[in-house]
Amino acid sequence: MKLSELFSDKLSLSFEVFPPKTDMAFDSVKHATEEIAKLKPAFMSVTYGAGGGTSKYTLEIAKNIKQRYGVPTLAHLTCVSSTKETVREKIAQMQEAGIENVMALRGDLTPEMEGLDRSKWDYKHAIDLIYDIKESGADFCIGGACYPEIHPESHNQAEDIKYLKEKVDAGLSFLTTQMFFDNNLLYNFLYKIREAGITVPVIPGIMPITNANQVERAVKLSGSFMPQRFKSLVDKFGSSPDAMKQAGIAYATDQIIDLFANGITNVHVYSMNKPDVAEKIQSNLSDILG
Ligand code: FAD
Repeated sequence: MKLSELFSDKLSLSFEVFPPKTDMAFDSVKHATEEIAKLKPAFMSVTYGAGGGTSKYTLEIAKNIKQRYGVPTLAHLTCVSSTKETVREKIAQMQEAGIENVMALRGDLTPEMEGLDRSKWDYKHAIDLIYDIKESGADFCIGGACYPEIHPESHNQAEDIKYLKEKVDAGLSFLTTQMFFDNNLLYNFLYKIREAGITVPVIPGIMPITNANQVERAVKLSGSFMPQRFKSLVDKFGSSPDAMKQAGIAYATDQIIDLFANGITNVHVYSMNKPDVAEKIQSNLSDILG
């Protein structure tokens, strides 16, 4: 099922999982993703390892979830440092695997890429990948990433939104946001992108922080602002794993309830291959989701 057919007034959750980094981890990751699929979310997204190292697993996991559990899947695809030829191969493999939804991403610039001559790369931005997917004739529903707190490489929000509009106009059916911990940042962002003429559905991405070590990583990765309310919670409960997990799930649940109350209908949960976290958030919202 194409995700564009899913967007409606019905409140729903979707979950993100990531593929294993090694063959050895495959079975345990597959099991975790299946446990999450059993919760019957609106859809599940499967990320693509930086640089594409784990790309075969992205497809395997996405295909398995769709075929065994009937959950619509969204396979991520990055293009940075790839050649047009390899991307064409990936697109063909996705079609062969029956993938209908693709998240078209540039991918992060890794430290190994620093100092390389980027002018020679086939792909500089996600928009180049979107054009290529369209040109290939593959009939995918395509999504893209957006950043309520601006992308770390952007000079300012106006510039970021200008490029976002170009990216959407190139053929995106929806956007998923980077994680954020203060919903007001999302509301402000939505106002600005709607003003700029971006009308596609925007799915907010919520990351439940369930251990204190995750905080530093999340902030480094996303540059997200940590509200005082969240910092206090980490200060108080960070040293007790069970308490931190409970508090982090409660915080994410609160964020989601506020989003639903303010007109958002689908929230994407960065469930990080943790079925227990996905299950708890979903059960916290059981009456709300109906
Ligand atoms: P782009 O849209 O290309 O934007 C990157 C930067 O370039 C921005 O600053 C933008 O303003 C600027 N820009 C865009 N177009 C132009 C242009 N034409 N000219 C000049 N500047 C331009 N990474 C992975 O490796 N695997 C994943 O599975 C993955 N999943 C993600 C899912 C979500 C929801 C999000 C938010 C991020 C994900 N990422 C993933 C991380 C993502 O790859 C990085 O954030 C990356 O740095 C940017 O990707 P993008 O597709 O947003 O890039």
